[in-house]
Amino acid sequence: MPPLSPCILRLALDTPLAIEFDYRWQPQSGDDPMPRVGQLAQVPFGRREVIGLIVAIQAGSDYAPDKIRDITAIRYQLPPLSAHWIALSRFAADYYQRPLGEVVLPCLPKNLRALKSTALDSALKKIDALGIPPQAATTAAPDLNTDQQAAVDAITAVSDYRVSLLFGVTGSGKTEVYLRSAEKILERERQQGGHAQILILVPEINLTPQLENSVRARFPGLHVASLHSQLSEGERTRSWISAHLGQASIVLGTRLAVLASMPHLKLIVIDEEHDPSYKQQEGLRYSARDLAIWRARDLDIPVVLGSATPSMESWHHADSGRYRKLVLAQRAAAQAVLPKIALIDMERIKASDGLAPPLIAAIRERLARGEQSLLFLNRRGYAPVVNCDACGWISNCQRCTAFMVLHKPERRLRCHHCSLELRIPSSCPTCGNVDLQPLGRGTQRIEEYLHVLFPEARVLRIDADSTRKKGSAQAAFETVHRGEVDILLGTQMVAKGHDFQRLTLVGVINPDTALFSHDYRAGERLFAQLMQVAGRAGRAASSAEMSQSEVLVQTRYAQHPLYRALLTHDFPGFASATLEERRSAGLPPFVFQALLRAESKTLAKALEFLQQARDLLPHQGIVMNDPVPMTMTRVAGVERAQLLLESTSRSALQSFLKSWMQALRKQPGRLRWTLEVDPIDI
Ligand code: ADP
Ligand code: ZN
Ligand code: ZN
Repeated sequence: MPPLSPCILRLALDTPLAIEFDYRWQPQSGDDPMPRVGQLAQVPFGRREVIGLIVAIQAGSDYAPDKIRDITAIRYQLPPLSAHWIALSRFAADYYQRPLGEVVLPCLPKNLRALKSTALDSALKKIDALGIPPQAATTAAPDLNTDQQAAVDAITAVSDYRVSLLFGVTGSGKTEVYLRSAEKILERERQQGGHAQILILVPEINLTPQLENSVRARFPGLHVASLHSQLSEGERTRSWISAHLGQASIVLGTRLAVLASMPHLKLIVIDEEHDPSYKQQEGLRYSARDLAIWRARDLDIPVVLGSATPSMESWHHADSGRYRKLVLAQRAAAQAVLPKIALIDMERIKASDGLAPPLIAAIRERLARGEQSLLFLNRRGYAPVVNCDACGWISNCQRCTAFMVLHKPERRLRCHHCSLELRIPSSCPTCGNVDLQPLGRGTQRIEEYLHVLFPEARVLRIDADSTRKKGSAQAAFETVHRGEVDILLGTQMVAKGHDFQRLTLVGVINPDTALFSHDYRAGERLFAQLMQVAGRAGRAASSAEMSQSEVLVQTRYAQHPLYRALLTHDFPGFASATLEERRSAGLPPFVFQALLRAESKTLAKALEFLQQARDLLPHQGIVMNDPVPMTMTRVAGVERAQLLLESTSRSALQSFLKSWMQALRKQPGRLRWTLEVDPIDI
């Protein structure tokens, strides 16, 4: 074999600089193999050593030879990341206007980026030692109903790129469709002597154990890996590597799993595709759903978007024929029917302590029958604000444009936007009045009242406060599933995905605020949330009585079209009205948006920066709105403003953003700014 000659390796490094870096490689010993694109390498960077990703191998460099430093080491033990994976990362970097290195490196487990390779080596050894996991008890697969069968057939009919929107009412058995499709594709590849991997994304960490159990029970002979932010570093490394080596046949995860390396990926499923948690809200502000679709197209494989309340984007694409719509119109379990939805008109019926008499009576009935009730209130804490009647003092956060929320069990006022926490004042800080009043209601206050109303009932509250400890959310949900809870009360944490078996009543408290939000997506989100939470009722219906499940919504706006559509479970009606509004108002999905945000000690500076940014480049075909303070202007003592860009052409917006970002990065000044493409909170 001829001796290997030195070459230049181009690396992506995790730095805010939007460039890649050249290093020199020469063989240290006779048996050093040639490095490959997609391998990780350790290099000197300034006075440090860092890990980077090799993105190109070149004969020469544009930099002067004496500027080019030597590679320290190549991580030969880890097989290279694929060209597809690098292309995916490059797309994400370009589309969301971030340097490639800020995409590829942070998404790798820390152990792979560590300068000592011991953790990586031992993880690799453990993977080698992993046999097929012990046989789990297999659950028999139910016979598919006609709709489910048609959906599975359609999804698996082709093995090339196709987006299917699986529009299935809550409890229609979408999970079963995912599992059967996965099974069929795994089997087909095996018969052809190949190997398939399936990626299933879910919106909530709390839903992964439930799905993981179903998947393991259904596929006892396969490796299933999960990827989400609550794994320990060791677990995360092992899951990541087993996906990367092609050993894990099924990867389950939250949004970050969309960037998992899966060399044999043959199907992607995005469950609850409309869920806002698929959007990353810091760093690389990506949409996992959109990246998944790009990924499927690049690999030429099918992708399934499942939801009972699809996003307006996906619904619009299905309407226009870009996506194929597959419908599951009925609930899957025998006897299970959609719950009856009714409104409690709070303009007419007086509620004591937040619960209206018809809702209280309905809970009482469930208690008598030994069934479960769920109360949904999307507001944690005891009361959203405390006030003094005598002088008008109100519990404002000193650092944010927000109220301090009363947390009674913890005896604290807490700001939910910064870390500020105060003891509950015993008297008014301005006038000394000792009679301070909590205003409004959060989950803790309703919980307190439930104990008074139903002293014998087992009440469980699930929200971010009650589930702070790792694993406590899962434990709480398990007590519900075991039937040890009579009344479950919680925030949106309880609304999503769970397949509760004995629950026949859902009560919705105070959903109205979203109707008057400045955010044009608030209605869409509220409708989805209400359909989701309503969908927790009557899923099993083991008896005729159980099938009389109902949803009661307390509202002051009983005539609002959103609630009228909800009453008849009419998502298509709601969606076409919403899309019509969006079209005439020139809002997404009919235009494309980007948002530049600036933060500063003073609002004037932030606005001034945005104004300058606005005038930096000519911008034909791009609408640049006026810079405005953000709705929540101040958070943790920092003032925030934003500038919204719009265009009817995605590519025009993209190419403008590219040159704009280059120009902006060259601007002097210490002000912090971020760009978000396709923002979902405006
Ligand atoms: P979705 O995700 O559409 O809300 P799930 O997948 O959670 O619904 O399914 C709801 C319930 O129906 C589950 O308990 C599931 O086991 C059951 N189920 C699914 N498919 C069938 C079927 N073909 N026959 C009987 N029960 C089914
Ligand atoms: Zn006062
Ligand atoms: Zn605050």
